[in-house]
Amino acid sequence: MSENRQPVICLLPGGYVDDDGETYNEVELYPLTGQEEEFLVYKNNTNTASLISSILSRCISRIGPMKIITEDMTRRLLVADRQYLILKLREITFGDRIQAVIRCPWPDCGQKVDVDFSTHDIPVINSDEKGPVYSMKLSEEAAWNDSQGKPYRNIRFRLPNGGDQEIVSPIVIHNEAKALSMLLERCIQAIGPVATPGKKEINRFSPRARMEIEKKMQSVAPKIELTMEANCPECARGFAIPFDLQEFFFGELESSRELLHREIHYLAYNYHWSEREILAMPREKRRKYIEILADEIERMNDAI
Ligand SMILES: [Zn+2]
Repeated sequence: MSENRQPVICLLPGGYVDDDGETYNEVELYPLTGQEEEFLVYKNNTNTASLISSILSRCISRIGPMKIITEDMTRRLLVADRQYLILKLREITFGDRIQAVIRCPWPDCGQKVDVDFSTHDIPVINSDEKGPVYSMKLSEEAAWNDSQGKPYRNIRFRLPNGGDQEIVSPIVIHNEAKALSMLLERCIQAIGPVATPGKKEINRFSPRARMEIEKKMQSVAPKIELTMEANCPECARGFAIPFDLQEFFFGELESSRELLHREIHYLAYNYHWSEREILAMPREKRRKYIEILADEIERMNDAI
C-alpha cells in the first residue's frame, strides 16, 4: 500500500501569484484520505476558512513548479480559487453527483425539493485580468476626501484571499458592515497618494464609494457560480437559490463519520491492516476492497 492516491491536475480560475508577481494556474490535487476525513470532522467546530487553508495544503502536491505547499500559500489563494479546489476535492473524493434536499423558497409553498446535479455543471468563470493589484476610479460623487477636504478618486486594491476570509469570516455573522471595513482595510493598497491606508482612512469612504469598490472587485474576480436552479414539483414554479458548497461538503463528512469507522473496522478485521494504513487510503480505495471482500464472502457462501 505505498501510493494509494492518484492526483488530478486542475486549472485555477484566478491563479496563485508568487512574490515576483508570476501567476500560476496549474495545481496538482490529491483526494482526501481517511486520515483527512477524520481530521476535518474532528476540527469542524473551528474557523472554516482556516480549516480549508489547512486541508488544501495537505491535498495540493504542486502549484506551478512549487512542490512544497504551506498553509501560507493556500491562504494566499483567492476566494474563488479555494472554492474551486474544494469543489474538485469533493469531486475526486466522493464523486461528481450532488444530491440534496432543499425547501421551495416560495413562501406559500415551502415543500421539500430534491435536487441532483453534477459538479461539472457548476460554471467556473476565469478572471481576465490577473492582478495581483488592480486600479479603478471612483465616480465623482463617491470621491474620497482627505482631512483637508481634498478629493481623490484613484484606488488600487487586491482581491480578497483565504487569509482575509480567516480573519473576516467570524465577524461577518455579527457585523457585516464592520467585516466589509476590515476587508477594505486589508485589500486597498492606495487611495490617491495615500499608500496602505489604515482604519481611519478607510472610514472616510462613503457608502457609495464602498459599493463602487465592492462592485469593481466582483467584476475582476474569478467566480464559481454556486446557484442552484430548480423547479418545484409541488407548485410548479422555478427558483434559484445559493448553494453553500463548504457547508454541504463538511456536512457530508460529518454524516459519514460513523461509516468511516465501520469501514476501518471491517478492513482491519479482514485484512489485519493497521488503522493508520487504512486511514492512508482515500474513500474510493477503501470501498473497492470492501466490495472485493463482499464478493468473496458471497462466493464462499455459495460454495457451501
Ligand atoms: Zn413550491
